[in-house]
Amino acid sequence: MPFSQPAVIRSRRVVLPDGERPADVLIRDGKIEQIATHGSLLAGDRPDVAGGLTDLGDTALLPGLVDTHVHVNEPGRTEWEGFATATRAAAAGGVTTIIDMPLNSIPPTTTVDGLVAKRKTAEGQAWVDLGFWGGAVPGNVPDLEPLHREGVFGFKSFLAPSGVDEFPHVEAADLEAALAEQARIGALAIIHAEDPAVLAAAPQQPGVHYRDFLASRPADAETAAVANLLDTARRTGARVHILHVSSAAVLPLLRQAREDGVRVTAETCPHYLTLAAEQVPDGDTAFKCCPPIRDEGNRDRLWEALANGEFIAVVSDHSPSTPDLKLLPEYGGSGDFAAAWGGIASLQLGLPAIWTEARRRGHGLVDVVRWMSGGPAELAGLTATKGAIAVGRDADLVAFDPDGEFAVHAAGLHHRNPVTPYAGRTLTGVVRTTWLRGRVVDTGAEPFGRQLTRPAAATTPTDRPS
Ligand SMILES: [Zn+2]
Repeated sequence: MPFSQPAVIRSRRVVLPDGERPADVLIRDGKIEQIATHGSLLAGDRPDVAGGLTDLGDTALLPGLVDTHVHVNEPGRTEWEGFATATRAAAAGGVTTIIDMPLNSIPPTTTVDGLVAKRKTAEGQAWVDLGFWGGAVPGNVPDLEPLHREGVFGFKSFLAPSGVDEFPHVEAADLEAALAEQARIGALAIIHAEDPAVLAAAPQQPGVHYRDFLASRPADAETAAVANLLDTARRTGARVHILHVSSAAVLPLLRQAREDGVRVTAETCPHYLTLAAEQVPDGDTAFKCCPPIRDEGNRDRLWEALANGEFIAVVSDHSPSTPDLKLLPEYGGSGDFAAAWGGIASLQLGLPAIWTEARRRGHGLVDVVRWMSGGPAELAGLTATKGAIAVGRDADLVAFDPDGEFAVHAAGLHHRNPVTPYAGRTLTGVVRTTWLRGRVVDTGAEPFGRQLTRPAAATTPTDRPS
């Protein structure tokens, strides 16, 4: 190996799947080789460990986060985001694996040619490990099996318009066909669930008031879409994953479906768990995403569900655009929520945002790591290599100061455009160092992220909760 002499990282707070404890972690050839008693390695008994010791003291050692929901947008909309900027932001935020969404890039990842274009463009640009979702759109059923063979992690579909013309949403018959094919080939269907008929019937009042935007994307749009999706999943036997659940009203539907044997998982996002409609200033379209950030009572119910294991993952849904498309008033825009691009840009801030709120609610780092590393790794079928500090896994690690604080300045973030709804907030938890396969990620040097494919044996993650 060109790097990673055997080395030891020592911390009094190593976050393992079953708890935090003081430990020495021995790394060799980019993998975790041993987890030993704190202070026991390099005490003269391991002369083979030439890479030295990094003693973190009380700074916690976490497994690198796995973010299965990132829109990189390159090629085609590189001015919105790109592989270099997105993965640099990821590394700075403690995220060591991202899975890129199939849309907003041009071409979208709905054909093997589209996937090849992505992979070529990403070459030599990735600071973290990187995989790709495919897309299931009307008419591309014949493309799904070839994409699956090429190693995409599953297929995203929209049940309502996606916001970009080249990635159309599926109607009932398209969805049925796509899910039947995915059941046949053993692929995971990941779904943006809002119902277009409910959206069309909702009051549409443009302008700077967030409550008007919220009324235009009601919770009923999510519950109606999820109900239809679960019916189709039941009929086809496909395994489905609900992306970015924003309304807690869908949770009883998911519970019932699981009881009926439907294979369904769900995720939510830092912005739904840490922000609330009541706080959104007029015209601040940095907060606009679809489905929308809802009220504080809803947020509490999402936290209860998270604590109960009803979400397999908390992932960013990082979906930036240029500030002019956000219509941000500070860039001369109108602040009109109806017309602004819908997407939250905050890949770098997910860990401290969630930690700040999780700690306030009595959760520990073990919980945060389960939601943001172990769970998403399981969703993507990557638990042989990612998602935990455990012997044999990749030494993807993060030195995280759980008591450090920092104020968010949008311009100081690594993603391409300086827009974030967290601007001006003080967050708790600072990423000090990120290691990818045993090597410190230094964004001043050459990137060494690898492109990942879906492990063949891992097409069917276990259902949750069991
Ligand atoms: Zn998304």
